[in-house]
Amino acid sequence: MANNSNNDIPKTCKAGVVVNEGPDFKLAVEDVPVPEPGPDDVLIKLNATGICYSDIHYMLNDLPIPPMSTFGVKSPGHEGAGVVVKIGSNVKNWKVGDRAGIKPAYDACFNCELCWTGKETYCDDSPQIGLQYPGSYQQYLLSPARYTQRIPEGVDDFSAGPIMCSGSTIYCSLKESGLKPGDWAVFPGAGGGVGHMGVQLAKAMGMRVVGVDGGDDKKDLCMKLGCEAFVDFTKVKDVAEEVVKICDGKGAHGVFVTATSAAAYSSAPMMCRIGGRIMCVGLPPAGTAFAGADPLLMVGKNLHVIGTKVGSLYDTTKALEFAARGQLKPIYEVFPLAKMPEAVDKLRSGKVAGRLVVDFDS
Ligand SMILES: [Zn+2]
Ligand SMILES: [Zn+2]
Repeated sequence: MANNSNNDIPKTCKAGVVVNEGPDFKLAVEDVPVPEPGPDDVLIKLNATGICYSDIHYMLNDLPIPPMSTFGVKSPGHEGAGVVVKIGSNVKNWKVGDRAGIKPAYDACFNCELCWTGKETYCDDSPQIGLQYPGSYQQYLLSPARYTQRIPEGVDDFSAGPIMCSGSTIYCSLKESGLKPGDWAVFPGAGGGVGHMGVQLAKAMGMRVVGVDGGDDKKDLCMKLGCEAFVDFTKVKDVAEEVVKICDGKGAHGVFVTATSAAAYSSAPMMCRIGGRIMCVGLPPAGTAFAGADPLLMVGKNLHVIGTKVGSLYDTTKALEFAARGQLKPIYEVFPLAKMPEAVDKLRSGKVAGRLVVDFDS
């Protein structure tokens, strides 16, 4: 990693910016001013950013939240990895040259019950980077020093980027599911950006993993990453029935819905065994899907529906530790900066196995 001195910081930098926010948005690569850190901030020069489907949501403006433009933000992105190039006057715990990451939550209050219990991403004062603050599609970014993620040795920037969101998110879901070693963990969307990391983490935690996705590419990926079985929804008529058959004829202990389709959510309760957990992770467009089932089924099967948001600073740190030990390896395809718009279009089309990452230095 380059250890830039302050003199190397340019006045402007490249950024992927949204044009015509909404259903017909386009992404363009433009020059934007490099921000100046406030007293408590660090300025990070990113080497890589992952492209997350949340970015697409923000640019499409299809979630029930105020659009990016409300906050004067044009660059989405929250999966950045790079190096600190400048620190604010009050900052003591970071130095120029330290490796640092950008994750979805920009900051938190650190003075409420949620912040005290590792749920700071739910804090009222936890804005989203790439929505309320310029995101990691911009190469030089500010981050509050107290909430900036450190990147350990042994994790390269292309891997660290996607772990900031997807890896950390699915780590958090696995943790909150309460599943134990030997339990069956099923991943609808197993070959996707979040799913393929869930498969690896679940395997590393000792769970028995079943992947659900479509097509031979995704099957090959899932089996390589540690799935014990794979169910191809393009080939199998009743996916849930097949999952139950694989899981001892009783069903899964936990279904981690990383897919964003209504079908994935509606079939999850049928995949569960008695006492099973439906873990909501994937974000379908508002009003298009429902998690849960007829109360008769919920009661009869003692089902639990649990939603978890992006991971906390703790969750991200733990996910990065799995990566540093070689147990979590994000699969990614690298795009040069100039092709960032192509990468966004590709993810939007849904034809991505693993993760797309943009290299700011090529
Ligand atoms: Zn994300
Ligand atoms: Zn708080």
